Amino acid sequence: MDVSKKLRGTVRIQEAPMTDVKVMGSQESEIAPGVWQHAPGVVTTSLQTALNWGRQNSMWYLTFGLACCAIEMMATGGSRYDFDRFGMVPWPSPRQADLMIVSGTVTEKMAPRVRTLWEQMAEPRYVIAMGACATNGGPYHQGYNVVDGVDKVIPVDVYVPGCPPRPEALLYGVVQLQRKINVAGKQEPEKQKQEKVESEAVKEDV
Ligand code: SF4
Repeated sequence: MDVSKKLRGTVRIQEAPMTDVKVMGSQESEIAPGVWQHAPGVVTTSLQTALNWGRQNSMWYLTFGLACCAIEMMATGGSRYDFDRFGMVPWPSPRQADLMIVSGTVTEKMAPRVRTLWEQMAEPRYVIAMGACATNGGPYHQGYNVVDGVDKVIPVDVYVPGCPPRPEALLYGVVQLQRKINVAGKQEPEKQKQEKVESEAVKEDV
């Protein structure tokens, strides 16, 4: 018997209604539960948290070095240590840079230039003192031509010790700076708790 002829006579091809069509591969567990079904595509957070998140993950650092520590900074930006995975982008202009890594000896002659570069950076701006020289003069402490730490010239957020610090140390310093940026503008839980206790005590007195 010609099976194809028989089928042609009996089978009717119907289009399935769109409501019955399932997207291949979708599972129940993939569908966002709860509030997301009522407010799809809505994410709630504070503006401060969003700003901090953006700032800590896109720090463009000024490409300038003052001495041997700069070689370690360059190594940190290379493929082995891969600064880029932290959102760190080397930037040749202070106008758009967020972070100044002071890597090397700050001499009396160089200090005013460092200050000028820092002033040209847009706020908020951050500074990492990399190495012993930038921290307190290092081997040249109290030398006739060396500033005993770059914090005599500009404010410093994080100090990275070492002579020179290894790239891992600089990476750790950057992570500490990210943690600092993450809590900027937010009250610490302990402080909030303290304020709550104090306000309740005031209410009881009244
Ligand atoms: S801390 Fe040491 S390695 Fe770094 S700039 Fe000073 S002398 Fe050079």
